[in-house]
Amino acid sequence: MYVVQSCCKSIPTVAHRGIGFCRTTSVRLISATSTKFSSPGREKKLFTPGPLSVSLTVREAALRDLGSRDVEFISTVKFLRSKLLQIAGVSENFYTAVPVQGSGTFAVEAVFHTAVAKSYGRALVLENGAYGKRMGKICEVLKIPYHIESFPENSKVNVRQVEELLMDDPSFSMVAVVHCETSSGVINPVVELGQSIKRLIPNSVYFVDAMSSFGAVPLDLERGHIDFMVSSVNKCLQGIPGFAYAIAQTEQLLQCKGNSRSLALDLCDQYDGLEKTGQFRFTPPTHCMLAFCQAIKEFEQEGGVHGRAKRYKENRRILQEGMKKLGFEEFLGPEHDGYIITSYKYPKDKNFNFKTFYSKLNEKGLVIYPGKVLNADCFRIGTIGNLFPEDFHELLAAIEEVCKEMNIMLPIT
Ligand SMILES: *Cc1c(COP(=O)(O)O)cnc(C)c1O
Repeated sequence: MYVVQSCCKSIPTVAHRGIGFCRTTSVRLISATSTKFSSPGREKKLFTPGPLSVSLTVREAALRDLGSRDVEFISTVKFLRSKLLQIAGVSENFYTAVPVQGSGTFAVEAVFHTAVAKSYGRALVLENGAYGKRMGKICEVLKIPYHIESFPENSKVNVRQVEELLMDDPSFSMVAVVHCETSSGVINPVVELGQSIKRLIPNSVYFVDAMSSFGAVPLDLERGHIDFMVSSVNKCLQGIPGFAYAIAQTEQLLQCKGNSRSLALDLCDQYDGLEKTGQFRFTPPTHCMLAFCQAIKEFEQEGGVHGRAKRYKENRRILQEGMKKLGFEEFLGPEHDGYIITSYKYPKDKNFNFKTFYSKLNEKGLVIYPGKVLNADCFRIGTIGNLFPEDFHELLAAIEEVCKEMNIMLPIT
């Protein structure tokens, strides 16, 4: 019925999806081991920034227990860490990948814990949306001295303005910024920023949250002088949620020993454990790691960063054209060409109500997301995850139908 694969062996060529097959099979799987606790719910398509849709084959790869002392597990950890560096396009001689249990925010917080010096550290957070603001919140909670520099949510972080700020006040030991600000879809110029930051404050640590872009939007860590970059398994690499990871400049990381105010989120300690024993310090997400091995195989079969970008761009193109035809207006101007997620303004039609709109789409098995920008009423549609052009055609047809049911005039004016 389903095949359980050992993760480090060569891959059979599997279709990335086969949705019809996928729905019936997953129902069968669940009913075969039917429990009192969960009913075999309907499979949904997630047009969201996370959790994201993942393939059946990725989910199947998790259907196996594996002990954490098992040699297979230890080699799996090693395999994944080195694959992540390969995907990031950096050398094992200079960079290291450190996985952290939990969602993406755990890795963001771990970097602040680890990379901001306890005694003299001061962070500069550049924000133009909710995820940047969250970094400020983390500094607040960790009692890290910081300055948050805000930029409009519909524009990129301005390099010139950052340069002026740093010339005025170079007393920062870390600068942090989000690559793709998932609340709006803006892609920040993180490489250019890194070059300016290292020119003006060469001894600082540069931290990029590339959570929703890693694996689909090319990013040159070396050229951008990025010391720490974080992402999670359940974004563009399409694994099942369970852990996140930092890709760190090894020398920088080694200098961070003793900084962390947290034991569980100490990247240095986690790194030491992984290097010395090949083990996580605390219970590892074994099933999730097995699934991630399969996710990486599918990522490579699709052609890596390039292949994934191609599909996501096509998803976004279909969405953009279709929504435009229906009269929906994007939150961002045409100068933004990110293809991870798109924010749409609520139609002005008095019959529009987001809750109803959302629920009606949800009933059709299509999940969109509320907006997250402060200065406009928006909803968001993600183009990442295990979604294909036909899914966007389906979504667009459903949106049209729902608008008609809600008596919203089309095209929206
Ligand atoms: C998804 C995401 C995160 C992590 O959010 P979690 O809810 O902790 O997974 C952080 N930053 C960005 C830019 C994201 O898109």
